[in-house]
Amino acid sequence: MAMLELHQVETFYGLSQALFGVELTIEGGEVVTLMGRNGMGKTTTLRTIMGLQPPRHGTVRFRDRDVTGWPSHRIARLGIGYVPEGRHVFANLTVRENLLATAANHAGTLEPWTVERVMSLFPRLAERHQQFARTLSGGEQQMLAIGRALMTNPVFMIFDEATEGLAPLIREEIWTVLETNLREAGQAILVIDKHPEAMARIADRHYVMEKGRIVWSGNSAALLADQAMQERFLGV
Ligand code: ATP
Repeated sequence: MAMLELHQVETFYGLSQALFGVELTIEGGEVVTLMGRNGMGKTTTLRTIMGLQPPRHGTVRFRDRDVTGWPSHRIARLGIGYVPEGRHVFANLTVRENLLATAANHAGTLEPWTVERVMSLFPRLAERHQQFARTLSGGEQQMLAIGRALMTNPVFMIFDEATEGLAPLIREEIWTVLETNLREAGQAILVIDKHPEAMARIADRHYVMEKGRIVWSGNSAALLADQAMQERFLGV
């Protein structure tokens, strides 16, 4: 059963068409990336998946259900954990309170995430569990944002440029957690990012967008091998 399937998706902002015939599939347990330069349609694709910008044509299927046109809160409740760029934590709650605030298990996961499990994933959060989130560094806030998404026990996660603007060491720490803790546990994830080398390491397959279309897809070996494609579409 596919986790997520976009078929012939065309999304518009008023009269202006942003997505053209987008085909994208993610199987259970897969880590897949969506890459492309700025303004090529990545955010619009996410907004379409989450029901924030429903497609005018085509279908979005999530866990074998046609969710096209569903309101976004209903889609989210099927088990999507969204990690946005730029933190989005409650500044005036402590680290622990931030994690407790999103705790849920709509999909009925057998071994749900707990505050303790999240803190063992990110020891920095454990050290700071009683601090207000506003006192954390940017990287620590991003770890907290990931923890908050995990506390919803998602069946599918979206990392939306979740390491943009972070110090390289922190970025590495987050990628390592993604690779060795989440991917190996079979968590299905869609990652929007701009670093093909790192993405080849942490993900199974990749999609590249250009002007609202998927112009390339393939596995990590194919991504690394195709330098010409990287230069043309990713500006590497
Ligand atoms: P970035 O990484 O900069 O967010 P992106 O690949 O996510 O880029 P989108 O934000 O999806 O790209 O934009 C795709 C196209 O849709 C662009 O041409 C953009 O100008 C247009 N677009 C995005 N949001 C809107 C909007 N609210 N109204 C009208 N056009 C929009």
